[in-house]
Amino acid sequence: MAGEVVARNKRVILKDYVSGFPKVSDMYVTTDSTVSLKVPADTANAVLLKNLYLSCDPMMRFLIMNSQQKMNKYLYCTPGSPIRGYGVSQVVDSSHPEYKQGDLVWGLTTWEEYSLITDVVSETSLVKIHHTDVPLSYYTGLLGMAGKTAYAGFSQVCPPKKGDKVLVSAASGAVGQLIGQFAKLAGCYVVGSAGSKQKVDLLKNKLGFDEAFNYKEENDLDAALKRYFPEGIDVYFEHVGGKLLDAVLLNMKDHGRIAVCGMISQYNLPEFEPLKNLLQIGFKRLNIHGFTHRDYNHIVPKYYEFVLPYIREGKIVYVEDIVEGIENGPAALVGLFTGRNFGKQVVAVAPPQT
Ligand code: NAP
Repeated sequence: MAGEVVARNKRVILKDYVSGFPKVSDMYVTTDSTVSLKVPADTANAVLLKNLYLSCDPMMRFLIMNSQQKMNKYLYCTPGSPIRGYGVSQVVDSSHPEYKQGDLVWGLTTWEEYSLITDVVSETSLVKIHHTDVPLSYYTGLLGMAGKTAYAGFSQVCPPKKGDKVLVSAASGAVGQLIGQFAKLAGCYVVGSAGSKQKVDLLKNKLGFDEAFNYKEENDLDAALKRYFPEGIDVYFEHVGGKLLDAVLLNMKDHGRIAVCGMISQYNLPEFEPLKNLLQIGFKRLNIHGFTHRDYNHIVPKYYEFVLPYIREGKIVYVEDIVEGIENGPAALVGLFTGRNFGKQVVAVAPPQT
């Protein structure tokens, strides 16, 4: 079309559905596509986004597998198409009444330099960014999906009270580092588990956890938990599952509470590992609550009211692991499943247009 402005569009394409541990070679990067910088004239309620940051999230493992358990049809990926996930983007063009050129948004996008989103279902799928005095990358984590999840777990699902003894697993990650800091602000004793010495040091020396341990170096997880919780655990924020969960069940107090956010240790296994200590749920009258962030879009404004002052005062800090370039996205995503990320894993794609 005469006068049409086009741009190169580097894309991360899913090669085939993934089973087992995801590999970089399950995806490939194309550099030969171009995109028109206008929403097609006949397409209503669409936005053309320039992606600034892409978020690597464990749940993306479920989106790239061939499964009937389709959590969310707007997110599900098909081979030959760009993978989908959360990101921070700038609106380049829009036929949607709620979004205009230049708006900054966070929400569901595709792993490309530019994404044409034709299925904006509500303002909760692309949230407008109003607070720009904090790093924009925070909207992939602290002020994005991970933050909403952490606040939902902390404030709605299993709110700890002052003095509670709290355990957080995957504690240095996108969600865990926030849960731990929120629980400290609430006056709890907080212990984190993580997979390296550097992560343990981070938890104790920068993020304010009372204690932390490297679960990979503990031959006896039950003994490790008894060391940190001689009287038992009041609240466990569960992110990993498997052997740690089994040991946690032995160490919960009567009427203890478990917020089941995720179980990353199980996502790539052909079958879930069996748990030996499930009887403890009855013996100890445990309350176990599963939850998903998707049920908590309504708490985002309240969460921002809670967290933004703490960020500005430096009372909540957020550790990010930012890789540069969309072509490095596949390795960053895959690295979540071996603990390669040090903090929230982000892919920087482009700076915003001012
Ligand atoms: P993250 O902690 O930033 O990254 C994943 C971390 O998981 C890795 O760094 C690694 O840390 C740990 N890990 C990987 N494989 C493991 C294994 N086999 N055993 C134990 N730990 C392992 O990720 P996140 O975004 O904060 O997510 C944390 C959990 O919350 C995940 O289970 C995720 O699915 C869940 N989640 C749920 C919701 C929801 O709505 N319910 C939303 C967001 C996230 P180490 O080096 O410490 O092992």
